[in-house]
Amino acid sequence: MKSKSALIIGGGFAGLSAAVFLDALGFKIRLLEKKPILGGRAYSFLDKKIGSWVDNGQHLLIGAYHETLKLLENIGAKRHLLIPSKTEVPLITEEGQPTSFNPSSLPPPLNLLGGFLKLKGLNWRDKWGLVKLGRELQNLKKGKPRFPLDQNVDEWLEDVGQSQRARTNFWDPLTLATLNDDPKVAGAGMLAAVLVKGFLGSNFDSRLIIPNSPLNDLLAKPAREYLEIRGQKIETGMSVKKIHVLDNQVQGVELESGELIRADYYISAVPFASLLRLIPEGFVESEPYFCNLKKLKNSPIVSINLWFDQDLLDSPFVGIGGKKVHWYFNKNKIYDESHPPYHVMGVISGAYQFVDLSKDEIMKIALDELGGLFPKAGKAHLIHSLVNKERKATLSPQVGSEAWRPPQKSPFDNFYVIGDWTSTGLPATIESAVLSARLAVDDLEKRGFSFSSGPRSQTGREDGLFLNKESPTFQ
Ligand SMILES: Cc1cc2nc3c(=O)[nH]c(=O)nc-3n(C[C@H](O)[C@H](O)[C@H](O)COP(=O)(O)OP(=O)(O)OC[C@H]3O[C@@H](n4cnc5c(N)ncnc54)[C@H](O)[C@@H]3O)c2cc1C
Repeated sequence: MKSKSALIIGGGFAGLSAAVFLDALGFKIRLLEKKPILGGRAYSFLDKKIGSWVDNGQHLLIGAYHETLKLLENIGAKRHLLIPSKTEVPLITEEGQPTSFNPSSLPPPLNLLGGFLKLKGLNWRDKWGLVKLGRELQNLKKGKPRFPLDQNVDEWLEDVGQSQRARTNFWDPLTLATLNDDPKVAGAGMLAAVLVKGFLGSNFDSRLIIPNSPLNDLLAKPAREYLEIRGQKIETGMSVKKIHVLDNQVQGVELESGELIRADYYISAVPFASLLRLIPEGFVESEPYFCNLKKLKNSPIVSINLWFDQDLLDSPFVGIGGKKVHWYFNKNKIYDESHPPYHVMGVISGAYQFVDLSKDEIMKIALDELGGLFPKAGKAHLIHSLVNKERKATLSPQVGSEAWRPPQKSPFDNFYVIGDWTSTGLPATIESAVLSARLAVDDLEKRGFSFSSGPRSQTGREDGLFLNKESPTFQ
């Protein structure tokens, strides 16, 4: 049987995962990425002054990223992950007290409770409230939450007995790291999903996994190599301008260059704002599937890279309660490098109030806070610095937004929409991106790779473009 062809638009985690999954099913793939490099929102670039590769932002995985871990194993990239033997999250409380969250090896939810009981900066009332939270998570796992999840994270945590102090010192850094938004903006349902996935599964699921190489080595390079060795076509610098639709089927995609490319199946793996530009205008207005995308919003991340002549942090990373910079990462420890310069990356998530500040203003905030947190900072000499702003880092999980995230199967028969922001039941993360690809490919396989609608038109005109009846392979 002649193999089917699939055209994938976008070369981030979602698009590359779809290519790997479809390759395994014998598809002939062509992937088009508009930028000169693959990786999407997870990439690294060369800092010429310091001579090393810098990530666009620190990326963390957890053991519950089952689809991502399988994918990275398949493409030979799992060796670029630092997988610890247990869960350990160093924290510094608002009062400057170092502590650590170490879930115990007891079965869930006792593992979570065990971890909380050892945390400093929480009083006994806070800890008692956690028993209530543990019970609530069990209810959630059974699909029977007792407290409404259509409220924001802050309100939900208050309902389940978490004091302001517990929220500042523990829940806020966790919410910002996992949902990339303010607990007063983010919907409780998403935090609950993270807690159930991370803490009510196996003990492995809660481990924090960090890439121990620049992001390009984790995804862009190995994925491209894996696919090209198998004869698949991965093209960068190829921007898709429009998708042409007729009789409920995508007939082809038009590149910025004017070239038209056709395939049996089409997969969009671009951010929601980019997808809205690709879809013919009439469909955006008439189809709630596309129209709802206009309600989605992005949330920014600011990363502050600082290179010192001394090592400031004792651990590979640390979460900070009650400060503007939420997490610091010790890149030398993560990359197992013990020589100067010592690279510290500070992360501000949900960074709406910071993204328009100047680099100098952001640097001042980070340096002032560092001085108060790490004793060695006072004597350290700053060698180099770099601020990276990602204005559209992730989908904002604002209350109500779940209803607008579309499923992967679009209203067009041969067209799937994937990406971290599509409906996966997870926050917009790497795992959500990979899972979205898995869901699309599983659906395609389930439908026996066949179109479900009536016969294709022989000739048709849509958006001023004539299409012929040639067999649907690449042109
Ligand atoms: C600073 C930062 C920190 C993060 N930290 C974490 C973390 O710790 N853990 C975690 O799990 N996630 C994290 N994320 C989120 C993670 O990066 C994303 O969830 C993931 O990379 C999204 O992958 P994607 O394939 O869905 O989308 P994208 O990576 O956005 O890929 C879409 C691709 O489509 C391309 N494209 C767009 N339009 C067109 C067009 N017209 N034609 C062709 N190509 C097009 C784009 O150039 C892009 O390469 C972070 C993100 C940022 C920015």
